[in-house]
This record gives sequence, C-alpha cells and structure tokens, in this order.
Amino acid sequence: MSKLRDEVLSANAAYAEGFGDKGKLALPPARRFAVLTCMDARIDPAKLAGLQEGDAHVIRNAGGRASDDAIRSLVISYKLLGTQEFFVIHHTHCGMQLFTEETLRELLKSSLETAVLDEGQWKDVGRGPGSAQGEFVDWLTIKDLAESVVVDVERIRTSPLVPKRIPIHGFIYHVETGRLVEVPRATEVGRAS
Ligand SMILES: [Zn+2]
Repeated sequence: MSKLRDEVLSANAAYAEGFGDKGKLALPPARRFAVLTCMDARIDPAKLAGLQEGDAHVIRNAGGRASDDAIRSLVISYKLLGTQEFFVIHHTHCGMQLFTEETLRELLKSSLETAVLDEGQWKDVGRGPGSAQGEFVDWLTIKDLAESVVVDVERIRTSPLVPKRIPIHGFIYHVETGRLVEVPRATEVGRAS
C-alpha cells in the first residue's frame, strides 16, 4: 500500500476528530469572496489570507491563470453562491515562468516521465514514447509576472459573464516573505464600475 495514502488518511482522521460544528457550515462562502491562485505547494491560501472553513472560494490551477475553467468557477461563485469580490494572486518564483509552451510540448513528445531542470534547461531523461497531444493544450505559461496578473484581471473584467460591480484585485504573493504585494495596474483594470 502507499505510505502517502496512509499518512493522508491518518491526518484526516485527526482532522475529523476535531471537526466540531463545522459540519453545519452554509454552502455559500460566509465572507463572500473568491481567490484565484496558483497550485504551488508553497502557497497556503487559508493561512496567507486568514481563511477558515466556509469563508471563501479558492480556485487553483498552474499559475493561477484566468483560464476558461477558472472563469467558469468564478461565475458560479458569484452567480449562485453570492461572492462579491475577486482576488487574483500570482507569485514569485512561479514554475510557470520556467518553461515555454514549445518546451513543454517537446518534452511531452519525447516521454511522459518527469523531466529535470539542468542549469536552466529542461531535459527529458525518461524513456519514450511520449505524446504529441501537448500541441493541443494552451499551457498558459508566464513571461512577466506583473503583466500576467494584469492580463488575467483584465480577462475576468471583460468577460461578458462577470458583472462590472465586482471589484477584482490583483496581487503577487512573495514566496520568500509570505507577503502579498498589490499590482496597482491590475487592481485599476479590475476596478468595479
Ligand atoms: Zn506558481
């Protein structure tokens, strides 16, 4: 059996033990906001933003990008569950800055094993076959961090499914210090009207 599986189940047993009355939480987020951020393991949205269970929606993907699917979740978040503000949070040293669309496509074509980063260059060390299906995915890589926050806030702002009354705030989370730093240009673009 998997050691990780055992660890997860034992951590969960301890969590459920102290669950208390959290089983009575309402479905809509009590503090009425949604966060879109990266899946990076160093980011703990609950801790960095002071969230308890039931407080807010947290939507995560690689990069915290405003993909069609992230927007799908944000629309459900406000339309059916009443959130009133959105936060887009990208972060320093994001893995999405470390490769290009073409790099990942080539790596996937060569094999499906985990690649290694060697002196700034991704190398595939695994055995093939890989797959060319990576050609059909938009990987939403990041070239410029502040710019990606602006672009994503703008994409949500200009979605015909998102009402103008919802303010969208743009931030960069610093993995070195734990601080959130606002991207003023993004917040300006995301201003409610
Ligand atoms: Zn990231």
